[in-house]
Amino acid sequence: MVTTELRTDPITGRIVAIDLGPFKRKDDFALEPVRLEDPPAHCPLCEGREADAGAEILAWREGGPANVPGWSVRVVPNRHPMLRIEGQMETRSAGLFESRDGLGAHEVIIETPIHDQPLHALDVDHLWRALWAWRTRIQDLKRDSRFSSVAIFKNHGRAAGARLDHAHSQLTAYPMIYPALAEKLRGAARHLSKSGKCIFCDLVAQERSDGRRIIRDHDGILAIAPFASRVPFETWLMSRNHSPRFEDATDATLHALAAALKDVMARIDWALERPACNLVLHTGPLDGEGDAAFHWHLEIVPRVTRFSGLEWGSGVHRNPVSPEQAATVLRS
Ligand SMILES: [Zn+2]
Ligand SMILES: [Zn+2]
Repeated sequence: MVTTELRTDPITGRIVAIDLGPFKRKDDFALEPVRLEDPPAHCPLCEGREADAGAEILAWREGGPANVPGWSVRVVPNRHPMLRIEGQMETRSAGLFESRDGLGAHEVIIETPIHDQPLHALDVDHLWRALWAWRTRIQDLKRDSRFSSVAIFKNHGRAAGARLDHAHSQLTAYPMIYPALAEKLRGAARHLSKSGKCIFCDLVAQERSDGRRIIRDHDGILAIAPFASRVPFETWLMSRNHSPRFEDATDATLHALAAALKDVMARIDWALERPACNLVLHTGPLDGEGDAAFHWHLEIVPRVTRFSGLEWGSGVHRNPVSPEQAATVLRS
């Protein structure tokens, strides 16, 4: 009989139902392996199609002009942006209803010129350049005082919402604190006022002394299966040192993060047969508001279970694999 434990995420207060039974066979998951395919004739992210992808905002090139081949990482505006940099800050109210312009930034980071090359297949130096592009774009966007927060996310595989197979991530900058970050900041602020300490620093210390949920711990970057993982093999990467904002990460930290990301994704690929995944980078508010209480962290969320009425209706996730078991598998 599988017993279930209701766990509370220490940061958000989110409740997750974790099955404590033996490790489920992968056959029980909704596995849709990510396939590497030949480039379709119309992939706008491939090298040689720079005009289709859009005018570059940033690129890593060994010299040469912009908007032509010869890059290894390239950032362009999203062709179908959710948010645009033109707009008014003011909110509009009509009785109960409040709205505002879709003001912000929505950019695409093309992580490689080669079509069938997932992010974690890149060598560590190339992967570092993708993270350099994330950091550089945040540093630039924070100069626009209208923006309060930035999230970077990645859809890897169709089951994770990717529309294009070519490896890319997306950056969104908001004129407010986006809700998932606000939830984390509230929990972090609560912990800070109660204990005087950063909850992420405390989490790092507790996980390192416990050890059961640690996947990898090298060069200052910790990879853990979070205590209240929402899905099987959910993984968080974060700095062991107090590090509120990603734009302040050093080159050495980004290099260690690139190595950790490549290693952990390879382990997840092995354990779950190349699953679709979402990656999300949460970083502290641009104005430094969360600097005492928060750490940037990168969440890896394999998409091997489907949301049901339980998740949509109650907000309680059911996870059939305990994070302790997931960490054991990923360490092996
Ligand atoms: Zn392509
Ligand atoms: Zn900290």
